[in-house]
Amino acid sequence: MSGLKTAPPGFVSFVGAGPGAADLITLRGAQRLACADVVLADALADPALRELAPQARWVEVGKRGFRAGATPQAQIDALLVASAQRHGHVVRLKGGDPSVFGRLEEEIEALQAAGIAFEVVPGVTAALAAAAATQRPLTRRGRGRSVTLATAMAQDGAVEAERPRAATEVFYMAGRQLAGLSRRLRSAGWLGQTPCSVVSNAGAADVLCSEHPLHDLASASVLHAGRPLVVTVGVGATAVGGVLPPKIAVFEPLAATPT
Ligand code: SAH
Repeated sequence: MSGLKTAPPGFVSFVGAGPGAADLITLRGAQRLACADVVLADALADPALRELAPQARWVEVGKRGFRAGATPQAQIDALLVASAQRHGHVVRLKGGDPSVFGRLEEEIEALQAAGIAFEVVPGVTAALAAAAATQRPLTRRGRGRSVTLATAMAQDGAVEAERPRAATEVFYMAGRQLAGLSRRLRSAGWLGQTPCSVVSNAGAADVLCSEHPLHDLASASVLHAGRPLVVTVGVGATAVGGVLPPKIAVFEPLAATPT
C-alpha cells in the first residue's frame, strides 16, 4: 500500500445540444446535464440550456477569448481532460450533433490518451433542423436515395470542388462562401438551375429560409448575413408537390414551438 490517493477517473458525456433552440435537445442529453458537475459549452448552444443544469459550473469554450498564439482546440482538449480529472462528471455540450463537424475526433483522442471514459449522446444536426424548417424531406422515394453532409470549406480555406455524389448535398460552414460554392458546384457538374435551399438559425424561433437556383446562390448572402446557415442542394431542396420558383422566395419565420 503506497498510501497515495488515486485521482478519480472522471467521466465525460459529449452531448449534442441540437441547433438553435433548447427544446431540441434529447431527453438523454437533458438527463446528462441534470447530473453534471461541470459543463463545457460551445458558443452556439442556446443559453436557455443552462436551466437544465443549474447545479453545474458552466464554462464557455467558444473559440473566441483564448490567448493569441495558442491553439484554441488544443486548449479545449486540455481543459476537457483537466475538468474530468478534477471533477466527477463533465458534460461537453456541442451545438447540433457532436459527430458532425464538431471536432469530436480530437477531443476523444485527448480523453483516450488520458485514460478517461466517455460516451456520445447524439443531437439534432443543423441539416435535419433545416429540412424540418422548410418541410422538405432530405430523401425522396425513388429519386432521392442519398444525402451527403459536407463542409464548404477545405482545410486550406478553399472551397472544395467535388462531383455530385448524392441526390442531395447539405453544406455546412458555407456562410461566407456562397458565391464560391455556387461556382465550384457548377464547374463540378451541377446545373445552374439546380434547386438550393438556404436556412439560417435552423431550429430557432427566428429561423430564415430562402430558395435559389444554384447560379443565383450568392444572392442569399444579404438575407442570411452573420447567421449560421446550411445550404441544401438538389432533390432535397425542392418543395413537396411544387416546382422551384424562378425568383428567390423568402419565407416568414416559422412560429415558435408552443409552450
Ligand atoms: N455540430 C453542428 C455543426 C457545427 S459546424 C451540427 O451538427 O449542426 C458549424 C456550422 O453548422 C455552421 O457554420 C453552420 O453551417 C451550421 N449550423 C450550426 N447551427 C446552425 C443553425 N442553427 N442553423 C443553420 N446552420 C447551423
